[in-house]
This record gives sequence, C-alpha cells and structure tokens, in this order.
Amino acid sequence: MSTKEEDYKKKLSPEQYNVCRLGGTESPFSGKYYQHKESGKYICVTCGADLFSSVTKFESGTGWPSFFDVMNSQNVKLIDDHSYNMHRVEVQCANCGSHLGHVFNDGPKPTGQRFCINSVALDFVPEKK
Ligand code: FE
Repeated sequence: MSTKEEDYKKKLSPEQYNVCRLGGTESPFSGKYYQHKESGKYICVTCGADLFSSVTKFESGTGWPSFFDVMNSQNVKLIDDHSYNMHRVEVQCANCGSHLGHVFNDGPKPTGQRFCINSVALDFVPEKK
C-alpha cells in the first residue's frame, strides 16, 4: 500500500474507505444526503475537491444522492465499468481517484444525465448567507 493510500485509510472511516478506495456501494436510503435539500456544494470526502452543486441535485427515488451535472467536468473522471455483467460508467474524483458512484443516461433535462453518488463519498459545504 502506498503512503498516500495509508493516509487515506487513517483519514477515512471504514465505510468511507470501503466505498471511496475499494469501490463499494452504500445501501440505498441509508446515506445522509439522499434527502438533503440545503443550498451549497458537495465536495470529495477524501480530498476536498469540488464535485456537485445543490443546484443540480434532484430527487431520483433511488435512495442515493443524484445530480444532473457536475460542478466542473475536470474534477471528475469517467471510467467504463464492466463489473457484474453490466456496462456502466463509473464516476471517480479526478484529483484523488476515489470512487464516487456511477452516471446514467436517464436523468432529467437539461443534461439527461443522472450522477448516482454515494453519500459517504461526499462532504457538504453550506452556501454562505
Ligand atoms: Fe478526491
């Protein structure tokens, strides 16, 4: 394990580490953000990079926080994922490589995209009033 990976292991809770660094998935309707409606931004829990804005969050009914766009396309990396005999597109933090979730093509307008993200991979920063 690299030094960086050991630092992540120390910093993250076992559940966060399992999702972010080992590609796990939290149980639907279990996370702290799927019903979260405050204004602000969602950042990478591992490295703090800006990922999603509350402006693009929508209720998908899946039990995971869902967004129709990213804050900055350079901050995420999209990777073809062929696990479980499916073709999906994995979403990673471009800065630290943490697994965030997947993106699907059945989202709402204007993008038609649905970024389906694990709550534990995110931290929330409220908008300053
Ligand atoms: Fe990150």
